[in-house]
Amino acid sequence: MIIAIDGPAASGKGTLGKRLAAHFGLRHLDTGLLYRAVAHALVVKGAKLDDPTIAEAAARTLDVAQLDEAKLKARGMAEPASIVSAIPQVRAALVDLQRNFAAVAPGAVLDGRDIGTVILPDADVKIYVDATPQVRARRRATEFRAKGENVDEALILDDICRRDERDRSRTVAPLVPAKDAHVLDTSDLDVEAAFAAAVAIVEAARR
Ligand code: C5P
Repeated sequence: MIIAIDGPAASGKGTLGKRLAAHFGLRHLDTGLLYRAVAHALVVKGAKLDDPTIAEAAARTLDVAQLDEAKLKARGMAEPASIVSAIPQVRAALVDLQRNFAAVAPGAVLDGRDIGTVILPDADVKIYVDATPQVRARRRATEFRAKGENVDEALILDDICRRDERDRSRTVAPLVPAKDAHVLDTSDLDVEAAFAAAVAIVEAARR
């Protein structure tokens, strides 16, 4: 079984993806980490984030097994990831890697922005997770505070809105729900309720 989860920044798709994968015995790939890793490689090299040649080379040499989630999830990597992800050559370089990951038995849950629309258009189940920008900023701020970071929720809201705008307006693989995606609005749901709703969507699709 292949489950595609998409949604805007901090919508909770990563948490849902992880939990659905564990629940259904599937592998999980948070595809945001791929774009974060490309951005990180450019930052380490001191390269410009919009340099398509260096960015594509970084994407082509990515090793999924070596992704350092803690480092890549740092707050400062989100904006650079959003910039490199708008480079068509970077997106093209990462397509096969994602499809190959999904193709391995017993199947997988992939979460990102274009999984149901571009990467896995034939996924068995597609879920588009959404929530209001304010709710998403609150959740992200709570996450960072739990890690001991002193964050300003208003700045996080600005970051999220800027990133959403860039992700929605880019020419290649913009963030948009697939026509056959189940939209799950988690604005009024806690983590458990969102998970239960997602499991119900998958079970219904399997039937
Ligand atoms: O999901 P996450 O916030 O880690 O993603 C970081 C950035 O990577 C997003 O803002 C988006 O620009 C990009 N991304 C993407 N396509 C994906 C996953 C992430 O463009 N499938």
